[in-house]
Amino acid sequence: MTKALLKFFLSICYVGVKALEKAHTAEHILMASIKRIDLDAVAVKVVHDEKGNTLYLRIKRLDWDIITEAVKAANRIIDEGRAVKEWFFESLEDAKKAIPNLRSYDERISGRVRVIEVEGYDYSACTRKHVSNTKECGYIIVTGFSKAGEDAYQIRFEVGEKAKEYAADTIALHMKVSEALGATQKTVLSTALNLKQEAQELKRRLAELTTHLLKHLNPEDFYGTKLYAALYNGVDRKSLMDYAGELASRAKTIVLLADAQKDALVVLCRSKDLAFDCSTILKEVLQKFGGRGGGKSEYSTGSVPPEAAEQVLSILKEELKRAFSKDLSGLNSIYHRDG
Ligand SMILES: [Zn+2]
Repeated sequence: MTKALLKFFLSICYVGVKALEKAHTAEHILMASIKRIDLDAVAVKVVHDEKGNTLYLRIKRLDWDIITEAVKAANRIIDEGRAVKEWFFESLEDAKKAIPNLRSYDERISGRVRVIEVEGYDYSACTRKHVSNTKECGYIIVTGFSKAGEDAYQIRFEVGEKAKEYAADTIALHMKVSEALGATQKTVLSTALNLKQEAQELKRRLAELTTHLLKHLNPEDFYGTKLYAALYNGVDRKSLMDYAGELASRAKTIVLLADAQKDALVVLCRSKDLAFDCSTILKEVLQKFGGRGGGKSEYSTGSVPPEAAEQVLSILKEELKRAFSKDLSGLNSIYHRDG
């Protein structure tokens, strides 16, 4: 390896190690800031890998308000350019005597103890590498958090240039979302929550109207059974499927319903006292129209392109007629013998 190449290779390694030291020191500052909000919070593990930086901690409750307050405090400490020092003690006991507010994950510590001090702000038992001044961390931002067990969370964070880029991207996204919702930066949250509530209310009303509509569907006489068949456009699908099941729980009943929005939903079901296989009939017909379906012998569902829905329903009806006429000629069994 030439000297120039070696120098280049070492500089890449140096940047990588330095980035790790920055991220790791920033974690000390972030955790100390969280602890100032919740005294009982304890850092359990810190992972720095290709996916980013993750702090695992024990804390009763964590939300964006707590995180924002901690991140702001951490960045103030970073900006102040505090010295990062190391201290050594013969045992954890000695260290705790000298530093009563020492942060340490006791289960993991034995023997001689190294304490990292962020000047006057935080003391933490740690064996890893750190930068010598908080200013080197540049900037820290939390990019997400999630629960990791009972009273346990994981916090993902970025440091330095990556953190600044993340902040710029996130603000741009926030502004785009605000614009899309016709809200301002300040009203975007309440606007989103109102829209969510309105959507839930509309969904509930659509479900009610769907059930109301379905209750007015009259059956036609079909070889001694009641056939409920209809094609709708834009009804609540769960209500439609539930009601189909409810109708099919009655005696000698066949239900053939469809809803033609986006991919059309088709439901074919029957009462237990009939014996043909809904699933096979539905699957075969839907496949011919580029759709698919399946389920059980008594209750099956599927989907087809919406423009085919009307034709699919009439062909399904033809298939049902064929099944019944075969049965009448003794070739097939439509009714259960004991039914
Ligand atoms: Zn450390």
